[in-house]
Amino acid sequence: MRAVRMTAPGVLELTEVPTPEAGPGEVLLRVGAVGACHSDLHILDAAAGMFPTPITLGHEIAGTVETAGPGVEGWSSGDRAAVYGIIGCGRCRACLRGEENRCRVTPVGGIGLSRDGGLAEYVVVPASRLLHVGDMDLTQAAPLTDAGLTPYHAVELARPRLRPGTTCVVIGIGGLGHMAVQILLATTAVRIVAVDTSVAALDLAGRLGAHHVVQAGPDAVEKIRDLVGPPPDGADVVLDFVGAQPTLDTARQVVATGGQLLLVGLAGGTLPVRPVADEPPTVPLETDVVVPFWGTRAELHEVVALARDGRLHADVQTFPLAEAPEAYEALRRGDIHGRAVIVP
Ligand code: NAD
Ligand code: ZN
Ligand code: ZN
Repeated sequence: MRAVRMTAPGVLELTEVPTPEAGPGEVLLRVGAVGACHSDLHILDAAAGMFPTPITLGHEIAGTVETAGPGVEGWSSGDRAAVYGIIGCGRCRACLRGEENRCRVTPVGGIGLSRDGGLAEYVVVPASRLLHVGDMDLTQAAPLTDAGLTPYHAVELARPRLRPGTTCVVIGIGGLGHMAVQILLATTAVRIVAVDTSVAALDLAGRLGAHHVVQAGPDAVEKIRDLVGPPPDGADVVLDFVGAQPTLDTARQVVATGGQLLLVGLAGGTLPVRPVADEPPTVPLETDVVVPFWGTRAELHEVVALARDGRLHADVQTFPLAEAPEAYEALRRGDIHGRAVIVP
């Protein structure tokens, strides 16, 4: 079968590999769609040894069951499913609570991260990772598994602060951010301030229903403070879906005293946390800093329900498998709006 693999650090190639077979408890899934997540670019850019090579990337997968391996119950050929990408150890305290995204044994284990992923015609996944999606378009189902799930989980963590009338600043309206805006609108009554460098991303945020849009730049802090109030007031919640130095610096300067700052993006910035008495604090007093990771299977079930009810819709640009490397280059250049989805 054809597969797009990271053959060495930084190298993404279309290759031919043997079609895998489902082992006990696994299914062979015919990939219907796989989202191109910005994290794949971070994986490609990571130092040698951080991720196994060669590996088929792609951790945002939806498809159709081709064959079920020995011992699999409840799934048969033709069933359509979204894939929960995390594979925790299943035995630690976090996994036993259903919080595999907090596994204390294999913290970033997953499909397309520590074993072959979905940028291929077929992928083998443990049957326990599948969720039914009914007749949903698979190019819609795939982005739910990360671009939908990760912001949903972040919003869950922030939910006690997302009271009606509060303000949430969303930085980075790309694959994750454009889903975050919809999740906030569907599940809270907060005022949304969307921030991005790209005018096209801000247009998308506005069309989706964000109440204010601010173009990121040297005066972003000032413009956001005009909307959320100057310190010690500010935004009740800030969701940073970029995580670069300029966005973290913006986030910490616009979050309210007693607010919450959720750092989802992995662009390599550092958040200084320095409580001192004789200078303005780097992060306001009583502010929570959270570093969310992906989400739980139960949350993915809720994300799929929102989408099946028509309240969550990914803005997708599709590419054939052979053009996956070009899709990732476009993502790197900032030329993808919403989510690029590869259709093998
Ligand atoms: P994306 O490329 O689709 O979107 C990023 C958006 O940020 C784009 O709209 C871009 O214009 C905007 N942006 C870039 N630099 C900016 C800046 N300085 N100021 C304001 N906006 C800026 O990426 P994505 O797939 O949505 O992923 C976003 C980030 O989240 C990535 O770093 C990714 O690795 C990370 N991620 C984290 C998790 C997690 O569990 N923590 C899960 C998935 C993705
Ligand atoms: Zn991802
Ligand atoms: Zn575990």
